[in-house]
Amino acid sequence: MDERTEALTTWRRLRRFVLPLRCLLCGAAGAAGIDLCVDCAAELPRNRSCCSRCALPLATLAELCGQCQRRAPPWDAAWAPFRYGWPLDRLESCYKFGADLAAGRVLATLWRREPCPVTLPQLLLAVPLHRGRLRRRGYNQALELARPLAHGLGVPLRHDVLQRVRHTEAQTELDAIGRRRNVRGAFALRAGIALPPHVAILDDVMTTGATLAECARVLRRAGVQQVDVWALARAPLKQK
Ligand SMILES: [Zn+2]
Ligand SMILES: [Zn+2]
Repeated sequence: MDERTEALTTWRRLRRFVLPLRCLLCGAAGAAGIDLCVDCAAELPRNRSCCSRCALPLATLAELCGQCQRRAPPWDAAWAPFRYGWPLDRLESCYKFGADLAAGRVLATLWRREPCPVTLPQLLLAVPLHRGRLRRRGYNQALELARPLAHGLGVPLRHDVLQRVRHTEAQTELDAIGRRRNVRGAFALRAGIALPPHVAILDDVMTTGATLAECARVLRRAGVQQVDVWALARAPLKQK
């Protein structure tokens, strides 16, 4: 832990005694040990009926979504406990684009409290940021969500195994094909690291799954037998 992280951790502990918990969304009193009130927490969209392979939100419970029936994704199982929608999207954008680390802590705690429906991997990796973006943002939003989760589940987490070797455009403005093309060849494994047979890769939000799919392919090529993908939230298909 570097000095800055240590100071932050100490401040967080102290703040519990100094400041009351306050809902980051509406300002009401926080509940259950987090800066979120009961009502806002109840509104968080849970991803209960979803595709068993890619966690795509579905209107009714079905084994596989249409896309996975047509073509299986390059991973084995997916876990995304929430849907990307109000009010989770608000917390996520404060965290990711507004450097609101309090929102990140709320999201990490919410995730940690969800039951894990998949077999635990032997190693967890977070989708890496390119050096330039990491420098600008100051933190990797996926890695900071992964830390408390890995700790809570007792799964080893490494941040030095998977690397982003090429800068990519933000995926937000791209369609599914554009996203796949954008991340092709963007990731590589650090040489000389032995990987266990079962690895999961974690990202904050999974939209089309292009980034996680590209990471999964890299791990498969390195001989990992089971690759799972984890995301805090899965975006529903865009309504046309
Ligand atoms: Zn609230
Ligand atoms: Zn699917």
